[in-house]
Amino acid sequence: MVLDNPRKPLQLRDVPRPKAGRGQLLVRVATCAVCRTDLHVIDGELPDPKLPLILGHQIVGRVQEIGEETDSKFQIGDRVGIPWLGWTDGECAYCRSGRENLCDNARFTGYTINGGYAEFTVADARFCFHLPDRYNDVEVAPLLCAGLIGYRSYRKTGNARRLGIYGFGNAAHLIAQVALHEGRDLFVFTRPGDTKTQQDAKTLGAKWAGGSDEMPPKKLDAAIIFASVGPLVPMALRALAKGGIVVCGGIHMSDIPSFAYADLWEERVITSVANLTRRDADEFLELAPRVPVKAHTETFSLEQANTALDRFRAGKLSGTAVLVMDAN
Ligand SMILES: [Zn+2]
Ligand SMILES: [Zn+2]
Repeated sequence: MVLDNPRKPLQLRDVPRPKAGRGQLLVRVATCAVCRTDLHVIDGELPDPKLPLILGHQIVGRVQEIGEETDSKFQIGDRVGIPWLGWTDGECAYCRSGRENLCDNARFTGYTINGGYAEFTVADARFCFHLPDRYNDVEVAPLLCAGLIGYRSYRKTGNARRLGIYGFGNAAHLIAQVALHEGRDLFVFTRPGDTKTQQDAKTLGAKWAGGSDEMPPKKLDAAIIFASVGPLVPMALRALAKGGIVVCGGIHMSDIPSFAYADLWEERVITSVANLTRRDADEFLELAPRVPVKAHTETFSLEQANTALDRFRAGKLSGTAVLVMDAN
């Protein structure tokens, strides 16, 4: 499925099968989970997608062909996961200081390089991962972005005992399981009046769940915002104890309204999370099966990608949408 222009539906068409270049794997795609970032790309909210583009950056597949001079950690037939971070230069100041997620020349799967809404894709082997055996191809796909970016956001909260989560979508649902596993007290904020999601959060183990316009019963040590809604930032800030941190976990957010300096005073911090490092992926893929982190999924065929995206946009999915390539 190909995106020719933002704000247009994806087109199904035959494209030549890619070849594994130097250092690359040709992967036969089994599944690819749909991420909110895909919607941001389609809606033209991210500045420079490669066009035409094959979307999709939560790819599970099997190695079909190995290019020259490729990292030997993979063999033909191995199952691999391909996430958002597709390539870095390894040379810039960010890469050399363990912050390849900020690389000046990074390339991103399903955004600046072709992704996994397809039967085949190629990927730089150094940015592919073995996946835990515990999960099948559908179950593991949502872990590759919602899980990884969620995990990076979560790690930024340090040892926060009381953790707030604003927006209880796919990433929040996965990371809440990790937080509970690690003994954190969880406070979940949803759209005001969304009692169903609040109930889901409590069933999962949240100490408290309420509307984003409410204050938690106790001040929070940290809050992660997964909703792309800027006004949540000052609201979350006001829910923090001294020294607390607000982590914005999304790639896109509407503007943040101004707020009083008193809300930031006493060493409160606001930060964002950009992309992921391979270390985040190694850590999370090792941790996830031990929790075990489980995603709710809803499957679609590749041809139904536009339907999956429309239902995601309308909030009508019951779990993360996962495209299954050989569904027919
Ligand atoms: Zn770099
Ligand atoms: Zn994503």
